[in-house]
Amino acid sequence: MIGRPRPSVADLPAYRPGRSAEAVAAEHQLADAIKLASNENPYPPLASVVRAIGEASDRLNRYADHRATALRERLGQELDLDPAMVSVGCGSVGLLQQLALCYVEAGAEVVYPWVSFEAYPVFTQLAGGREVRTPLVDEAFDLGAVTDAVTDRTRLVLLANPNNPTGTAVPTADVLALADSVGPDVLVVLDEAYREFVTDPAVSDPVPLLAAHPNVVVTRTFSKAHGLAGLRVGYLLAHPDVVATVDKALIPFAVNGLAQVAALAALDGGEELTDRLDLLRTERERVVAALTGDGWWLPPTQANFVWLPAGEASLTLTVGLERRGVAVRPFAGDGVRVSIGTPAENDRFLTAFTQVAIEAGAHRSWRRPRGS
Ligand SMILES: *Cc1c(COP(=O)(O)O)cnc(C)c1O
Repeated sequence: MIGRPRPSVADLPAYRPGRSAEAVAAEHQLADAIKLASNENPYPPLASVVRAIGEASDRLNRYADHRATALRERLGQELDLDPAMVSVGCGSVGLLQQLALCYVEAGAEVVYPWVSFEAYPVFTQLAGGREVRTPLVDEAFDLGAVTDAVTDRTRLVLLANPNNPTGTAVPTADVLALADSVGPDVLVVLDEAYREFVTDPAVSDPVPLLAAHPNVVVTRTFSKAHGLAGLRVGYLLAHPDVVATVDKALIPFAVNGLAQVAALAALDGGEELTDRLDLLRTERERVVAALTGDGWWLPPTQANFVWLPAGEASLTLTVGLERRGVAVRPFAGDGVRVSIGTPAENDRFLTAFTQVAIEAGAHRSWRRPRGS
């Protein structure tokens, strides 16, 4: 090995992105394949957004505004927050990494339920911190276990709500109670990458309550609901002290000018955007109904994907789906995450699943809720 990486970096698992449709089609010699592996919005960006990006592209010789001031102010207006409580980053994962860099010193602990978002262990270890994982119950968060895992070494609690990959969500009131109980030295991060897909009224908007719960941090993104995954822009909502701190770790000009312009245009997306969200939520319910109608138990999802708790059959099931041109995201030994696509894509997944689930042994390994 050339060079001497820090031990915590040498041991790092590499982040594994979902496989592309092209890679799956090539491997299995298929005419085409579809990608339901990365929870992307299946619809291309709005024409108005594409136009705004085109108009801004003749300014690419200049650095854009490092702080994305116009976008912070606009988000502040939209959310009725002081712009001092808004940060903008290179995707919400950029902001999560900034949080780890700023709050996790060597040996400090980061608590999160597991299975959850695969970037959390990476950022924790990169910062030299120690991860503390708490188990799920019926594929959902057990906030009591999370609270019990917090010690005086804990700096961050990371709660993806809804959770990736299981899709489950916890009531906002329970998270705020947890935040109050752990005290001001522990930041409780609500990673709301899928906020816009939530329909459960118990998973209410935490933003109006941020002032009363100063150790709560909310991260959101333009990648999923707004369909801008390829541009990398997300935002963080928190106490001004937290915003000022994470801003110190923002790589200069990490939020590129086209991303800033596109995010502003997407906020003007109006009904065109909300109609797509409605369709994706409707399709989610259709996919869930089809699978549960065939007797498969699914954890309740509030996101733009479903979680198939296939246990030991997860990899076999994934390969079976890929052979039929459906790229999904396996979590070995745990389950398979399938994003909601267009109606035609969802039909293709459902047909393929029906063909492969039994032969993959999913009926034997599938997990069910406790007591059922
Ligand atoms: C997709 C996702 C993100 C976000 O991504 P960005 O594209 O970096 O904004 C963050 N958290 C979770 C849990 C996600 O699934």
